[in-house]
Amino acid sequence: MSPVVAVGAHPDDLEVFCGATLALFAARGVPVVGVIATRGEKGDRRPGVNAEALAASRRAEAEAAARILGLVELVSLGFPDGELDRFPDELRRKLAEVYRRCRPQAVFAFDPWRHYEPHPDHRALGWAAVDARLAAKLPLYYPEQVATGLEPWEVAELYLYNTDQPDTWVVVDSTLTRKLEAVRAHRSQFSDEELQKMEEALREEARRHGNRAGAEYAEGFKRLTFGGLQIFQTLTRRTGEG
Ligand SMILES: [Zn+2]
Repeated sequence: MSPVVAVGAHPDDLEVFCGATLALFAARGVPVVGVIATRGEKGDRRPGVNAEALAASRRAEAEAAARILGLVELVSLGFPDGELDRFPDELRRKLAEVYRRCRPQAVFAFDPWRHYEPHPDHRALGWAAVDARLAAKLPLYYPEQVATGLEPWEVAELYLYNTDQPDTWVVVDSTLTRKLEAVRAHRSQFSDEELQKMEEALREEARRHGNRAGAEYAEGFKRLTFGGLQIFQTLTRRTGEG
């Protein structure tokens, strides 16, 4: 089955923004590849934290979370945390390479059109993930990749998470618990109190999307389609559907 590629900027983005959906697809036998653009080595408020040690523990946390969600592979692109906007060409090139290698039907990424998104990495990741779709399908983009045997590949669907204009919902009644478990794997990011608040907020958001989808819990996406098969028709609900 054609896989899904889910791209995040930081080691915990995929779990927080679309973890229940990825767990659902994995449970249905869809191979899901996770991609993390940065090492997350600035993600700690405490002064004096060692960035290298933090990057190592965040990598281990992301691997544990990926196992909980059932991902088949976790790719780390290794860009510096907080600086993705400095590397738009390189990020797009690396993502196009991932798309050409994995040949996904669908890609999940930040919605770059979201209004007032304050994190520069989230904005930069969204643009690069969308732009890499165009690059991956045309052989004159990054011909050195094609020369090594990576054929051009057209991604048929983009599912943009962290969106303020969702039009597609995935019902996650069966996998919300797994998402929360995966979020808990990111121990460096949350104190016990913060974790509890985070879980409440994520559950409330899933409930809010569930209301739109006619279910208890859902995750919402902006879906862009570019032709081809839509293998997730049975798992998603669009605006206006019961
Ligand atoms: Zn993030």
